[in-house]
Amino acid sequence: LSISHDDLLTLKLLGSGNSGSVSKVLHIPSKKTMARKVIHVETKKTVLTQIVRELRIMYECNSPYIINFYGAFLHEGDVTICMEYVDCGSLDRVLKLVGPFEEFILAHVAFSTLCGLNYLYDSHKIIHRDIKPSNVLLNSKGGVKLCDFGVSRELINSIAQTFVGTSTYMSPERIQGGKYSVKGDVWSLGLMLIELATGKFPFGDNSSMGPDSILDLLQRVVNEKPPSLDPEKFSSQLCDFVNLCLKKESERPNPIELIRHPFLKDCKQENTKAKVKRWATNVRRILKGKDMGNKVRNTKQ
Ligand code: ATP
Ligand code: MG
Repeated sequence: LSISHDDLLTLKLLGSGNSGSVSKVLHIPSKKTMARKVIHVETKKTVLTQIVRELRIMYECNSPYIINFYGAFLHEGDVTICMEYVDCGSLDRVLKLVGPFEEFILAHVAFSTLCGLNYLYDSHKIIHRDIKPSNVLLNSKGGVKLCDFGVSRELINSIAQTFVGTSTYMSPERIQGGKYSVKGDVWSLGLMLIELATGKFPFGDNSSMGPDSILDLLQRVVNEKPPSLDPEKFSSQLCDFVNLCLKKESERPNPIELIRHPFLKDCKQENTKAKVKRWATNVRRILKGKDMGNKVRNTKQ
């Protein structure tokens, strides 16, 4: 399957972030619904071509915990990536919709994320580098899939040069300029779990911060005692799991070690999977209801 811009019909904008925007599209020849991400990178044509070539490594990523890749191409100087459309969207969106997650959902998210990280590293030597709720997607069957991982060195470099973002899920060792390892992703997972458990990002709301306060925040990540969950409100297994994720690098477990943690022991059981699936189906129903509401409002105007 080779995708070109003209084969795609834009259905709606799903969201935009620091690096680009994502739309739901229809690939007309195959009648497949896809998500198309358009990234604007200010760089030479040769570098753009190199990025597209590197992104094609994603063809080889086949795992239930990783978003499916359909193709990448250049269109009007923008890098375009076509991937699987995931019907409940990202976890930040789900969090806003349904509020903090129950622990069996958190366990499922943690387990799926670790399986995804482990797959990327083990099979392709890829480190994700950007684990956060907006890069973890949920479908209505309960599947949890990672997207936006660092496959292309050139793309990582180009985006780093136009850094505007709030990369505050970054581990202390990374902020201090250390080498990036899979353990950096484990730190980000720990922060993400606190956010999904409490509804709040542990280092405060950073969506409208200027460069000074971002630097301040990065300082806090490095210097302060890592955040943790209130043991009065959450199980000791979840609290312990999060504490391990947020240890300093030398003491932090890697994904394989964490998969065996007692907090995740029920994840493979059929009745747990069925419960997760029921929850995800319900999330989808709520999302659809909201979409319908918006449509009614739009036609009334
Ligand atoms: P950042 O640019 O800092 O990574 P972000 O992840 O929110 O932020 P994008 O990666 O551009 O920004 O994604 C925008 C939004 O599009 C996401 O928040 C998510 O809700 C939605 N989205 C992304 N990929 C998909 C997909 N494959 N299926 C469905 N929705 C998606
Ligand atoms: Mg993203």
